[in-house]
Amino acid sequence: MRRSLVVGNWKMHGSAASIDTLVTGLQQQLANLPADQTDIAVCPPFVFIPQVISQLEGSAIACGAQNVSDQQEGAYTGEISATMLAELGCQYVIVGHSERRTLMAESDADIAAKFTAVQSQGLTPILCVGESLAQREAGETLSWIEQQIKAVIAVAGIEAMAASVIAYEPIWAIGTGKTASPEQAQEVHAHIRQVLANESQAVAGALQLLYGGSVKADNAAELFGKQDIDGALVGGAALKAADFAAICMAA
Ligand code: PGA
Repeated sequence: MRRSLVVGNWKMHGSAASIDTLVTGLQQQLANLPADQTDIAVCPPFVFIPQVISQLEGSAIACGAQNVSDQQEGAYTGEISATMLAELGCQYVIVGHSERRTLMAESDADIAAKFTAVQSQGLTPILCVGESLAQREAGETLSWIEQQIKAVIAVAGIEAMAASVIAYEPIWAIGTGKTASPEQAQEVHAHIRQVLANESQAVAGALQLLYGGSVKADNAAELFGKQDIDGALVGGAALKAADFAAICMAA
C-alpha cells in the first residue's frame, strides 16, 4: 500500500505574520490526523523556510522548497542550492512546476538537472508534469506527459524515480477553479504508472503520484478515491489552514 501525501505549494504568498498564523492553524487542525496514514508537507517561499521549520519542530508536517538551482555552489547570483535546503532541514523540493516551465522557460533538461541535484543531497524531488489546454484538445496529453517523464528518467535513471514523487498538474486546471475530473486525472495517472512500469514494476508500484490543479476540500475525496491518485499538490487552498487540513483529512 502506498501512503498518501498532500503538499501545499504556497507560491509567492505570505508574510512572516500570515505564515505564523497559517502554520499555527495547521498544527491545531491536523493534531488529530493519524500520522501513520498521510504524509504532509508545506512549501513556503525560500525566505520563510527557517521560520516554518522552527515552528514545525516536533510536528509530523515536513517542509519543502518550491525551486532549486541545479548547481551546489558557486557564482550563481540569486540562486539557492539543494545543499542549502538540506542544511535548513527541507525534505522535499518541487521541480518543474508549470509556472517555472512557462514563466522562467525551464526546459526538460533544466528540470532533470534540478531533479538529480535535489536527490544528491538526500531530498525528495516532486516532479511536476502537465499539459496545456491546447495539447489536451489536440489529443496530445498522454504523449506529452510521457515525454516529460522520460526526459528525467533518461538523465536520472529509473531507479532514481523510486526516491521521488510525481505530480500531474494539467496547466488548464492550475489556479483556474477548473479541476480535471477524477476520470481525466486517473487516466493520466494510470498512464504515468504504465510508463514507469515498462521499466520497473517495483518503482511504478511504490511511487506516490499526486494530482494538482484546483484541488479543494470539496473535490479532494473524489479524486483520492481513484486507484492511482495518491494525494495532491495544492496551491490556493493550501493558504487557508481549514481548507488544507480538510484536504489532508480526505487523503
Ligand atoms: P492550485 O495550484 O491548487 O491553486 O490550482 C496548484 C499548483 O500550482 O500546484
